[in-house]
Amino acid sequence: MTVGKKSKKINIRSLTKEELSLAIAEKGHPAFRAKQIWEWLWKKQTVDFKQMSSLSLPLREQLNKEFEILNAVPFHSQLSKDGTFKTTLRLFDGNVIEAVLIPDAKRNTACISSQVGCKLGCHFCATASLGFKRNLSFDEIMDQLFCLDQKAIEQSGSKLSNIVFMGMGEPLLNFEALLKAIQMITSPEGMGMSPTRITVSTVGISKQIKRLADEKTNVNLALSLHAANDELRSSLIPFNDVEPIKNLIDALRYYHEVTGQRITIEYILFDKLNDDLKSAKELANFCRNFPVKINLIPYNQTDMKQFKTAQMRKVTEFAEFLKDMNIVVNVRRSRGSDISAACGQLANKG
Ligand code: SF4
Repeated sequence: MTVGKKSKKINIRSLTKEELSLAIAEKGHPAFRAKQIWEWLWKKQTVDFKQMSSLSLPLREQLNKEFEILNAVPFHSQLSKDGTFKTTLRLFDGNVIEAVLIPDAKRNTACISSQVGCKLGCHFCATASLGFKRNLSFDEIMDQLFCLDQKAIEQSGSKLSNIVFMGMGEPLLNFEALLKAIQMITSPEGMGMSPTRITVSTVGISKQIKRLADEKTNVNLALSLHAANDELRSSLIPFNDVEPIKNLIDALRYYHEVTGQRITIEYILFDKLNDDLKSAKELANFCRNFPVKINLIPYNQTDMKQFKTAQMRKVTEFAEFLKDMNIVVNVRRSRGSDISAACGQLANKG
């Protein structure tokens, strides 16, 4: 792969299996050729048409003339002292993204990016400081997974078990590529993974939450809430002015009604900001609208000095209050913070 401008050729890996079959049939080739090409691209991860030795030479030349292969290439990686692995991948146009492997005793979780940067500008998030460059294509999303899957096998002998769309960007603002990636991850010809092992995390784009429900993907949905009153939430997430909490309640109710799933609520705890009893009560009220599970995440420090991590005592009190209200609560241990790989820290810092 060369870094530079995209040519007029079609990136063959951006096509779904059906689109590839159609394109190959239109050129007058039998159906089994598309299957062979698909296997070279996705099973064998071949990035050069010349190496597709089961194809005839004229077909390889034709492919080379009309298509190109634009794979994302890992060029830098870091291993945290807790085993978390972060990789930086360079895209065909020189942009870079990050993806993180979080291993524990039972799982190998991949945290992947959906956009280069992000346009939503959440004040506590390091990715926001990059601004927004562009959406990732579906194959660029898949490349992160292939890279982390390989690393998981290398480190633990096991493949990826879970995938979270919680890296750089807002996945629901890159809906088509997200859907294609979910289809590929869950299809037997792709990664053959159950949708219940995939979590899409969003700041809350209500129209797209409803669409995700209607698409019957059956993935888990996580809402980055962080405050359950509009004034405080807007001070953390400017997009809350566009999509206030009442819109989110409506969309999440719909998601639950259509999919039957419990919604995951992500709540970052900041010192003296949203870690008091009043905030915990507001959160408990919000959670009355549908079945939920809450992940409390003590803030991972970045360069943004205005935000501080909540004290452990406050985190415990907050969690206990919610548990007393019969709400399922997990306090998330920070992983990979020494290599800026933790939640909200991804900003291509190497
Ligand atoms: S928290 Fe998510 S939506 Fe907000 S700026 Fe960061 S990446 Fe974007």
